Amino acid sequence: MDKRIEKTITNLKQNNMEGYFVKDKEELLLLLKSLMKQGDTIGCGDSGTLEETGVFAYIRNSGHTFYDKHQEGLTAEEKRKIYLHNFDADIFLTGTNAITVDGKLFNIDGNGSRVAPMLYGPRQVIVVAGINKLTDTVEEAINRTRQIAAPMDAMRLKKNTPCTKLGKCIDCGHEQRICNDFVLIARQFIKDRIKVILINQKYGF
Ligand code: SF4
Repeated sequence: MDKRIEKTITNLKQNNMEGYFVKDKEELLLLLKSLMKQGDTIGCGDSGTLEETGVFAYIRNSGHTFYDKHQEGLTAEEKRKIYLHNFDADIFLTGTNAITVDGKLFNIDGNGSRVAPMLYGPRQVIVVAGINKLTDTVEEAINRTRQIAAPMDAMRLKKNTPCTKLGKCIDCGHEQRICNDFVLIARQFIKDRIKVILINQKYGF
């Protein structure tokens, strides 16, 4: 294992979060299966990584109760109910915008529905990330999220914010701004409630 990844996993453990390393999406799915018990209820946040690695597709066919926010035709009220169910899920699956080598997670969120269950509620939070999400410092984590991840996310969501035209963040005051909650998870109160799986490939943005 690369020294930087080894150091990240050691530091996650010191911050009461379990860290794992897998080489590809096949190993990722095997590990996820081992972390889920029959009957576990599962929620999720938006994540290009979970989409690209086939995790969402796997969960939809796994027989678990899945609070799937991506179902077509959901009304705003139905989505809200799913978000509230996430707080009581056995497992909350999510990506992350950045992981620092000193073992912290950084995320920017629009309405808080992804970061809030990371902070409290679900019995387990499983974070899946490619090695492209690793940063050396919190400052770099914030910068990568603001200048790379957020503009790309705004494009994915087809927002009319300035970043979708400029390809960079100008800290806009646009009514469709998606960058509202800046959340650093520095340590966990409940040991190993958060599990971070690093994949030795690039996923998401
Ligand atoms: S603050 Fe505005 S310009 Fe910057 S990334 Fe977010 S939505 Fe785009």
